[in-house]
Amino acid sequence: MKVIDIIEKATGPFCSLELVPPLRGGDIKKIHAAIEPLMEFAPPFINITFHRDEEIFRQRPDGAIERIVVTKRPGSVALAAAIMKRFPVEVVPHVVCGGATRHQIENVLIDLHFLDIENVMALRGDPLPGQRNFVPTDGGHRYCNELVGQIARLNDARYLDELPGAVPANFCIGVAGYPEKHHEAPNIETDIEHLKHKVDAGAHYIVTQMFFDNAAFFRFVDACRSAGITVPIIPGIKPISTFKHVETLPSAFHIDIPDALSRAIRRCKTNAEVNAVGVEWATAQGKELIARGAPAIHFYTMGSPDNIRDIIRQVF
Ligand code: FAD
Repeated sequence: MKVIDIIEKATGPFCSLELVPPLRGGDIKKIHAAIEPLMEFAPPFINITFHRDEEIFRQRPDGAIERIVVTKRPGSVALAAAIMKRFPVEVVPHVVCGGATRHQIENVLIDLHFLDIENVMALRGDPLPGQRNFVPTDGGHRYCNELVGQIARLNDARYLDELPGAVPANFCIGVAGYPEKHHEAPNIETDIEHLKHKVDAGAHYIVTQMFFDNAAFFRFVDACRSAGITVPIIPGIKPISTFKHVETLPSAFHIDIPDALSRAIRRCKTNAEVNAVGVEWATAQGKELIARGAPAIHFYTMGSPDNIRDIIRQVF
């Protein structure tokens, strides 16, 4: 079932999950272990992130430097299919512009269509490590709205090449929104204008970047509605569970940690105490979001289901 139909037919708010594929050579059992404890909450869909190839430079024994392309987390299409086969959920594989030509993207979408996967999350992707700005691949997309347009055209059977007898795809398209603004955008209004381009190109709903201050989400939703964006907006929540998160999350995701949360974490002596603070904070966020009309809450699980389970039990 398409995510947009799940949202429209839901009789109340629900939770959805986001998973990161295992590192190269990793075990599908890890993924099963990350999902199984959360199946009691019947999440209707699970997102699978996509991680583009990276380049590293290595010195050979003869002193020459060689460039190596590293695929750290391969197999997101296969993983999506494996999850759907084992669990009664829809999967939402992420499809990313970075590192891919339009033809490569089309082939991924064709594979997903063969697998009867009806949902995708369209993203531009971040600059590669060491790059200041996002560099589009030759023959690829510069911004996500172009990728959304490509997927929407496939839904009309408009493939890149003239293909007599080609059948239409049937994708429901999610896109990303940023309650605290995407870090490259000059201001929130411009960022929301760009978000509207994604919706106008065919996106059916929005999932937000994680945030720790609900006020930012409510302001964002109001600003989206004022800008004429009418599609559902699902808040994304990530509980803090270690001291390290306080440094890594703001720098990786360009988000703020509110004073009250960082003060509470500073009072902790162990990661177990930080985890408890994170669960309490995210639970309070979740309850308020639901009370104020969020259709669902999307949890960034990052492979550890225990804190997510504690939060979902209290929120839903
Ligand atoms: P865009 O919508 O293209 O926006 C990128 C920037 O360009 C913004 O600042 C926007 O304001 C600006 N912009 C857009 N259109 C224009 C225009 N026409 N002219 C000028 N400026 C413009 N990354 C991954 O690599 N893999 C994942 O699986 C993944 N999953 C994610 C899931 C969620 C829910 C979120 C919120 C992010 C995810 N990301 C993922 C990260 C995402 O790829 C980055 O945040 C990326 O930097 C922006 O992606 P986007 O799709 O929002 O880009």
